[in-house]
Amino acid sequence: MSTPDRNAAQDLAAIVARARHETRAGDPFSLARQLQTPTWVFDIDNGHIRHANAAACHMWQAKDEAELQSRDMRADMSLTVSHRLRQYQADFIASDATFREMWTLYPAGKPTSVEVNFSGFALPDNRMAMLCEVVGETESSPDNIRSAEALLHTDVMIALYSLSGPPLYMNPAARNAVHDPKAPLVRWFVDETDHDIMMFGLENTGEHRHVVIVRTPNEDRWFDLSAKYCSDAATGEPAILLTAIDVSELKIARDKASYLADRDQLTGCFNRSYLQQHIARLTRFQSDQCALLYFDVDRFKQINDQFGHEAGDVVLVEITKRARQAIREGDVIVRLGGDEFVILLEGAPAREVLEKQINRFVELFSHPVVHDATQIPVSISIGVAMFRPSATDFTAVMRQADIALYASKQNGRNCTTFFDEEMGRAARRRDLIEIEIKRALERDEFVLHYQPRVDAQTGRIVSAEALVRWEHPDRGLVMPGEFIGICEETGMIEELGQQVLRKGCAQAIAWHQAGLDLQVSLNVSPRQFADAEFMQALATISHEAGFEERLIELEITENVLIGDHNGIANKLQKITEMGYKIAIDDFGTGYSNLSYISRFPLHCLKIDRSFIMQLPTSGPIVQLILALGRQIGATIVAEGVETQEQFNWLAAQQCNQMQGYFLAKPMPVAQIPDAVARFCATPSAPDG
Ligand code: C2E
Ligand code: MG
Ligand code: MG
Repeated sequence: MSTPDRNAAQDLAAIVARARHETRAGDPFSLARQLQTPTWVFDIDNGHIRHANAAACHMWQAKDEAELQSRDMRADMSLTVSHRLRQYQADFIASDATFREMWTLYPAGKPTSVEVNFSGFALPDNRMAMLCEVVGETESSPDNIRSAEALLHTDVMIALYSLSGPPLYMNPAARNAVHDPKAPLVRWFVDETDHDIMMFGLENTGEHRHVVIVRTPNEDRWFDLSAKYCSDAATGEPAILLTAIDVSELKIARDKASYLADRDQLTGCFNRSYLQQHIARLTRFQSDQCALLYFDVDRFKQINDQFGHEAGDVVLVEITKRARQAIREGDVIVRLGGDEFVILLEGAPAREVLEKQINRFVELFSHPVVHDATQIPVSISIGVAMFRPSATDFTAVMRQADIALYASKQNGRNCTTFFDEEMGRAARRRDLIEIEIKRALERDEFVLHYQPRVDAQTGRIVSAEALVRWEHPDRGLVMPGEFIGICEETGMIEELGQQVLRKGCAQAIAWHQAGLDLQVSLNVSPRQFADAEFMQALATISHEAGFEERLIELEITENVLIGDHNGIANKLQKITEMGYKIAIDDFGTGYSNLSYISRFPLHCLKIDRSFIMQLPTSGPIVQLILALGRQIGATIVAEGVETQEQFNWLAAQQCNQMQGYFLAKPMPVAQIPDAVARFCATPSAPDG
């Protein structure tokens, strides 16, 4: 094979120029046939050599031109090469471009590395073919062949640029990826700042690496780009060597993962972990006062129970939408979980301005949420903590806002409370009580007192309600109002409930075995009712020696009946089958749906004390409850009877049983037998 021949190259350029215009006249290849360097025309569209001179036939180890023309060059052509040829074809159509590249050809299966000049060659049918001229043969050492091939086939973009800008070399991956292969380096970058950053890095350390957006022919894509100062191997001039890998998929996946890691799935708000990091960032960089608004939806559980979980989700999404309307850009909304949200206002304004802003939130949140044509009433309670990021940490701020929110709940909900120091002290006291209750449960300091329930007709004590008291070692007898709420909030009610259940049932059995005909009522909190262990304990007790059917009554409140009516009815049915009776405590104050009442196995309705207190004004309501009770065959008990007048009014209306200070206050267990005996002797007599 011949060596590069500069004159021949110039001849060829002339031939090419003429050939481009002589396509329809005679053999456009006739001049090329005279050249000593292998020259051929490759028809890219059908993968066949169209014309070849003798040197080319020799190089391709073909018998003659006809044999070479008959070869299908696509047979062992890789996808990358065929893709690249298409690219060249497009370039030839667009311009008079010529290219020089190192190619490895396989004439008879044996690799031969040659340097080839390419240019466009218009065929008579106006399609663009490729004129190829070998301008040099390189030493075909295996390493040379492999490295040349690797450069051609790799997906990594490799390019060499002179310092003044024009490209010196680009491998096919680089040529395909950039918009204009001849444009200076700066044109790679969508954002020119990335170019400046790269040059700055190069000037300082001689190399640079970062992930940048590159303008590719189809779209802008992310590349992991490395740049190094080096010398052009051909001229020795300083140059920049670039390698770049398309990392768009990776970047999108990583961005998505980080988006998801920071977000709440349902509402698209930020999540707790983001808030924590965000406050940590503020702590480092900002000293301006911030306001943290911690809020939740009032009685959200009830919304879920009454309208279904789907409706609950709709409420949460709507809450987020409304919150977004009310905040400024840069303020952050976070869903902590469940129905709990945080809005973080940076650079919070003065208290009065902030209050106005909060009122706007409250106003937005006060409109009902519409779901499936149902209007769901919503309101929120808010706790606000003001803080300087540099002086407070995440846990402390959250705790303050939480305490303020708790105060809003205590104040009847649907309101806003700003945290203050007194609130902090009260919360610490509550924490202390919590610790004390835990200890009291371990030390068995809770006892039951019993309040008699009197039959209105016979005046006898027929039943006794067990009411829990805490025998505090220092403070004496502590009433349930001080600890039941905390037990409910913390979950300690489950343990307390178990203790009450064990003691109350044991007492009922003991009285029964002692010949005292007395039913015992036990209060069951909603949380306890939902606890699987509670059902288990009821079942165990029902098999104990001395357990009698209908000896023990469980008092539940109306809100236990809201939600999955079938599930609740089944549970109540099971409890009834075990031999317990069911009473609804504080009846008339809850939200139970009267049309469902008849579906539940209920033995007793206890009219709430508030109605009895207001007699005779509240007479019509009480009469209504009495009628309802008769209708479903339940015993009606009036709670909190304090006066003779109330007693007389209720007795006249055929209320079955009465309970209240007028008859007897709750008393220690030891006093019950005496009270029972006294009421037998003097029917209807109040206990002093
Ligand atoms: P409740 O179940 O409605 O109990 C009746 C409450 O009214 C008792 O208060 C009782 O002492 C009080 N009371 C009874 N008659 C009168 C009256 O004529 N006038 C007035 N002003 N009050 C009267 P107590 O013992 O302080 O219990 C308060 C609440 O604590 C109970 O209301 C019940 O909801 C809860 N509770 C008490 N013991 C337990 C328990 O063992 N477990 C659970 N989960 N809750 C309990
Ligand atoms: Mg009760
Ligand atoms: Mg009650």
